[in-house]
Amino acid sequence: MMQLTIPPRPILLETLEHDMLIDGRRVPALSGKRFETRNPATGELLATIAHGGAEDVDRAVKAARAALAGPWGRMKAVERQRIMLRLADLVEEHFEELAMLDTLDLGAPYSRTIMGKARAGALLRYYAGQATLIAGETLPNGAPGDVLSHTLKEPIGVVAAINPWNGPIGMSVWKAGPVLASGCTLVMKPAEQTPLSALRFGELCLEAGVPDGVVNILTGLGDAGAALSAHPGVDKIAFTGSTGVGEKILHAAAASMKRVTVELGGKSPNIVFADADLDKAVPAAAMAVFANAGQICSAGTRLFVQSAIHDEFMERLAAFTRTIKVGDPLDPTTQMGPVVSAPQMDKILAFIAGANMEGARPLTGGTRMSGAGYDGGYFIEPTIFTHVADDMTIAREEIFGPVLSAFRFETVEEVLARANATEFGLGSGVWTRDLATAHRMARGIRAGSVWVNCYQMLDPGVPFGGYGMSGFGRESGPHHIEDYLETKAVWINLD
Ligand code: NAP
Ligand code: MG
Repeated sequence: MMQLTIPPRPILLETLEHDMLIDGRRVPALSGKRFETRNPATGELLATIAHGGAEDVDRAVKAARAALAGPWGRMKAVERQRIMLRLADLVEEHFEELAMLDTLDLGAPYSRTIMGKARAGALLRYYAGQATLIAGETLPNGAPGDVLSHTLKEPIGVVAAINPWNGPIGMSVWKAGPVLASGCTLVMKPAEQTPLSALRFGELCLEAGVPDGVVNILTGLGDAGAALSAHPGVDKIAFTGSTGVGEKILHAAAASMKRVTVELGGKSPNIVFADADLDKAVPAAAMAVFANAGQICSAGTRLFVQSAIHDEFMERLAAFTRTIKVGDPLDPTTQMGPVVSAPQMDKILAFIAGANMEGARPLTGGTRMSGAGYDGGYFIEPTIFTHVADDMTIAREEIFGPVLSAFRFETVEEVLARANATEFGLGSGVWTRDLATAHRMARGIRAGSVWVNCYQMLDPGVPFGGYGMSGFGRESGPHHIEDYLETKAVWINLD
């Protein structure tokens, strides 16, 4: 394997103060307030960020509305496409810097963040391709006389994107893709823990030729997100984050009838049948939950193992998990970094304590890591619980940390019922060599993605999203762009 080289510290971080990006310019918050962003591996202060309030939200939304009426609104799809392809090249060219910003801001190992390069480029190129495919239809009608009817597809207008912190640059690109392809404009609020790569992405948009005001990066805390989701000048909200905040956003959006899509939390089942290829299933089951320190919405956090192989599987899983290298995100061999913040760490440790209280047994892990290299940061051991009952808190609630709950099962019908006994429905995994089992599980599981003999596959061309409390709407795939378009019916009476 090629040795991974860690790039130098991004030049951006030579400046401590970072402003938001509105109408093509970097501006401080009108209040003058700032908030801090820190490196969760060390506690080091990375930057102070403009702390946007409702008045900044208003400025950003007005800039985005004005941009709809400017050169962007008159641009042909082919021109937007050219800009997006240039942006894809720029994002790839600068990806080492973007990945480093995310590694420092989020704590994810550089070996992981740099892997997002191929996906970022592919996403932008996929949506660029869609720009020139947007078209209305000529439709027959039964009206008396000679009457033509056709549809026009128009950009929906100003889109507010509100993002979580667990995959910052990937999320920025994913949100911007359909906005730029459809000719909408964007006010994007990155999470307060990870604002840096979004600001750099906004600059790259300008460099690629995206006109001023089309992509605005509004930095701030939850109240800025709330102001954005209630602003009457916003036509659509694309939210990714927790189910609780998703509910608030639906309420806020109701007053001005905004279109909303919400990609929320999960408690995804990963199901291993006795006939599975265990050499593949063991490491995959571990990384389904320990990748990104468990901070993935579709993480496979409920592991169901068929009785005949349960004990052997759990032994191998524990052995593999103990080999996962946790530590400095800037060490190229690190596989798992810290969790994002002290509050997130405390929340995860409380879930672990609760699991012990409720009678689950830790097979491996279960504590905060301490000692040299760990003390300044928020490191938690990869943790596996066995003897978990289906109604325990760790079996039901999203933890968003490196904690796996393992269960034993006997039959297809039983595991299907237990896998579906959750309010969520985001990801799911099935490990079997039996074609019929694979298809029956794929049909039976209530979740937006079913991964058979793999986990966490994503592609720009394939839809991703949730059932139930995991939200609604699908990002990626051929139909995602529809969420960004209005359909207008035009009737022409020729008589
Ligand atoms: P979060 O607390 O819901 O925050 C998400 C975003 O919403 C942040 O930018 C946050 O701002 C903002 N926000 C907070 N309160 C708000 C309000 N009242 N109105 C509008 N916006 C508000 O989620 P998180 O902790 O960042 O991320 C973890 C969650 O995201 C997990 O539940 C995870 O499952 C989910 N997630 C889902 C997917 C998916 O595709 N389904 C992908 C990734 C993550 P602040 O940062 O300033 O609080
Ligand atoms: Mg940070």
